[in-house]
Amino acid sequence: MRVILTIVLGLLLAAAPARAAVELVLPGSSIVQGEIAPVYVIGALDTVTGRFGGEELPFVRIAPDSFYTLLAVDMDKKPGRYELVINPRPFGAQAEELVRSINVRDAGFPVQKLTLPPAKVFPDSAGTARIERETALRNRKWKAWSERPFWGKEFIAPLQGEFRRFGSRRIINGAPRSPHSGADISAPEGTPVIAPAAGKVLLTGDFFFTGNSIYIDHGLGMIGMFFHLVEIDVAEGEMVEQGQVIGKVGATGRVTGAHLHWGIRWRDKRINPSSLLRLKLD
Ligand SMILES: [Zn+2]
Repeated sequence: MRVILTIVLGLLLAAAPARAAVELVLPGSSIVQGEIAPVYVIGALDTVTGRFGGEELPFVRIAPDSFYTLLAVDMDKKPGRYELVINPRPFGAQAEELVRSINVRDAGFPVQKLTLPPAKVFPDSAGTARIERETALRNRKWKAWSERPFWGKEFIAPLQGEFRRFGSRRIINGAPRSPHSGADISAPEGTPVIAPAAGKVLLTGDFFFTGNSIYIDHGLGMIGMFFHLVEIDVAEGEMVEQGQVIGKVGATGRVTGAHLHWGIRWRDKRINPSSLLRLKLD
């Protein structure tokens, strides 16, 4: 009897499809507000899909047996535990489901107090109409990202210098305003600003708050913003290479001195540019 059972069990095991070996490489079990980090899925797979906190993640195949996506949290995402769900699908088989819990940690952003000319803080009706027009234009343009990444293995800084003020909770002339969603890098007016990665120029213009501005689509939902320029050296629709000069540092828009404001959005999430520079993809 035991012999027969062993044989039957052996046959059943042999008939069951072999479970594909899938390796999940995570940046860790936690991530800080405003950070971005890669998630790799390795195995002989046809497709990989996934979600983080219920939101779809785009996966890119980087080798025959390797995919990655970018895990990112908005600077204002509520700290706590969120589910990362990965569905690797082997060739000719059903997708598996791997679930991990990721802890979003509070970044402890500082409070910054600023005093500005009242006209820059409380625009008149013409200023308000202009801001609304510019916001609508920007919102329409930056949804039009390319579905393939233009970047390579890493991003480089647009300018050498100290990155300041990402995430600052701003109190302007005594009233709380929206937090500072980019990094400010001080430099003398006229200092060249280079493209941190390849991309397509989505939008350029002179805007109320951000002055002479450039928006670059780096692909797959990664948008780079370069504000307060004295000069814009690229045109809308143009493709730029990593390291190409795109403009010059200035003090245009709502500023207190010459600097570059570099902002990064990853699929509408406001990301710390320093975190993007730490990203090494291989
Ligand atoms: Zn800024």
